[in-house]
Amino acid sequence: CGIVGILGRHEVAPLLVEALRRLEYRGYDSAGVATVHEGRLDRRRAVGKLVNLSDLLVHAPLPGRSGIGHTRWATHGGPVEANAHPHRAGRVCVVHNGIIENFRELRAWAATQGLATESETDSEMVAVLCDHFLARGASPAEAVDRTLERVTGAYALAFLFEGEEDLLIVARKGSPLAIGHGEGEMFVGSDALALAPLTDRITYLEDGDRAVITRAGAEIRDAAGRPVSRPIRRIALDA
Ligand code: GLU
Repeated sequence: CGIVGILGRHEVAPLLVEALRRLEYRGYDSAGVATVHEGRLDRRRAVGKLVNLSDLLVHAPLPGRSGIGHTRWATHGGPVEANAHPHRAGRVCVVHNGIIENFRELRAWAATQGLATESETDSEMVAVLCDHFLARGASPAEAVDRTLERVTGAYALAFLFEGEEDLLIVARKGSPLAIGHGEGEMFVGSDALALAPLTDRITYLEDGDRAVITRAGAEIRDAAGRPVSRPIRRIALDA
């Protein structure tokens, strides 16, 4: 139900949880974060309130300066840890808001390909597809493009990749997503409020947009794949 992402200069797990806290008003049943640290992708997930996730992180810290986070409002699959986001398939972790309408067909296709699944969610298929294309030699950006060609429904998505500490790819269709600009840092969130303590310089993605984000900035393309520039707005929010 809420998405955040950070390419930062400091440890991001606590910042991700803090940003998710600012999205609590949307409601949720579970939460999770993933980071990439020394090239290695890892995640922590917990059912219930964010305090359960932050307690887990005390006992099992998740180092790294690049990460994504999610609060889930279950639509497909019960509110259990295996269904909590981030979903992982091989080299990629994904957080998703919305509903992947054709997930049953995708699940059937994955079974014919011998691709493993470990949750009951619609969202997991986005990770499974993306990793499938990565495994066939696609770059992260190509793998995301090919994945989005195959999924129908509504989404805000953020992708984090094994071995890529300066890369976050996001996409939106039917669910809002904002990019925050820092000094040598970049942020994403379901809304600007989530990012309020981190930055007040916000770019709102338009429907169909996808963005390849590094610490140097965001390259945005529209639904037709054309490079576009979206304005950076300075917004006034009480942190
Ligand atoms: N449909 C997804 C799920 O049930 C995402 C729900 C959400 O937007 O939080 O896991």
